[in-house]
Amino acid sequence: MASNIRVRIAPSPTGEPHVGTAYTALFNYCLAHSANGKFLLRIEDTDQTRCTPGSEESIFKALRWLGLEWDEGPDIGGPFGPYRQSERLPIYKEHAMQLVEKGSAYFCFCTQERLAKMQEKQKAEKKNLGYDGCCRLIDPTEAGKRAHAGEPHVIRLKVEKSNNETTTFFDEIRQKDVTYNNIEIDDQILLKTDGFPTYHLANVVDDHLMRISHVIRAEEWIPSTPKHVMLYKAFGWDMPKFAHLSLLRNADKSKVSKRKNPVSLNWFRAAGYTKEAIINFLGLLGYSSGSASERFTISDMLNGFSLDRISTSSPVFDLEKLKTLNEEYIRGYSLDGYIQYMKDTIDFAARHLSPIMSEVQKRHKIGLGFNVWTDMFFKTELEYTANDFITKETNKKQVEDTLSALAKAIDAFGKKIPTAQDFEECIRIYTDTSGLDARSTLMTVRVAITGSQTSLPLYESMALIGKDRCVQRIKQAVAYVRSIR
Ligand code: GLU
Repeated sequence: MASNIRVRIAPSPTGEPHVGTAYTALFNYCLAHSANGKFLLRIEDTDQTRCTPGSEESIFKALRWLGLEWDEGPDIGGPFGPYRQSERLPIYKEHAMQLVEKGSAYFCFCTQERLAKMQEKQKAEKKNLGYDGCCRLIDPTEAGKRAHAGEPHVIRLKVEKSNNETTTFFDEIRQKDVTYNNIEIDDQILLKTDGFPTYHLANVVDDHLMRISHVIRAEEWIPSTPKHVMLYKAFGWDMPKFAHLSLLRNADKSKVSKRKNPVSLNWFRAAGYTKEAIINFLGLLGYSSGSASERFTISDMLNGFSLDRISTSSPVFDLEKLKTLNEEYIRGYSLDGYIQYMKDTIDFAARHLSPIMSEVQKRHKIGLGFNVWTDMFFKTELEYTANDFITKETNKKQVEDTLSALAKAIDAFGKKIPTAQDFEECIRIYTDTSGLDARSTLMTVRVAITGSQTSLPLYESMALIGKDRCVQRIKQAVAYVRSIR
């Protein structure tokens, strides 16, 4: 019989499927499947400016590849759909209005200019940043009329802060109360001027309507949880249980990010990491299985699964460990299993690299296959020698300066996803201004990015590798060149 346990993951389709999504999905999946509950997938796409085409599909494929199937979701439906937030807009609006009627939320007509000035003043006076509550003072009937007449507005949560109120929730993983003073909590926008909800409103309304019993998500959402608790209280709804997973960290304890490590599940799959090794690795990072063996599958995790066995310390994402596990799994395959794995990997890698495959095809030679050209996409450390950088035409200082300047210039793309053409233009500026001649500059960058003086077309390769890993590779090259004696 199905239990009342209903959990979900709620990814935003903003890029490549992230290893952190798989980590969160794994623990949600385990709770649902160990207790005969349901595991849902909901797409949180209300911030349309951040959504990228193909991302949603890519998330589905990656999770299915790992065996983390969902019971209800945008592509398979279910009794509480739709499961894509952009298809639920009237629901959020209606709920935001309910809160206004109850006096737990209010219309705010402040313009961007006023908010910017307010913030400047708060900064100058070294006060806490946040909305100053100006529109709370407007008489609600008057505010209702103005909103109804079409004056641009948002709807904000009215956070009670007059009497030093606090908001507390119990964290099922940390096994303790987490308390926030309401002073620290902003009058959060719930519904934006364009009628779209913010994450907080949509997330709470959906978790309630989809009957979620446990919210298991990454700890970076802890500061949002008191806002959610207030929303549950304002609506008069029962609260789900909250469980926050510690963030995956790089060896230097910073949050895993594409600046330091590969984080895309597509990258792992194309590079030949197996689903068994990834699941085992993610499980090991966060869970004590109780057995002495480090090798376990999802089924092993389901046995006696409980949230309080999830680790509270921040697990280090040790790529070397994952590589070792991966090799163990590959050695354990039957020959047929191995052939199947090879087929799947080559097929996936070729598709992953499709924007550059015609260039690979031009260079294809019997015996070398395509790996010789494409390996560099999947390496975390490139192997170059001093002679690759320092030639008759170049010296150490010029190479170091050119690469450092270029790393900065590429970083300056910010949130933009640079195309091959963007990389070309960016590098051209440096070939025009750097102390090196154009040929040597290009060669230097090519070695830094691909690890070799002969490679696939540079700019296209850079676009595929992505801005962050390009910067990371260039910085690694600078450090290498610096160490040359
Ligand atoms: N949309 C959020 C994300 O991208 C969901 C966070 C949550 O699970 O509440 O991770």
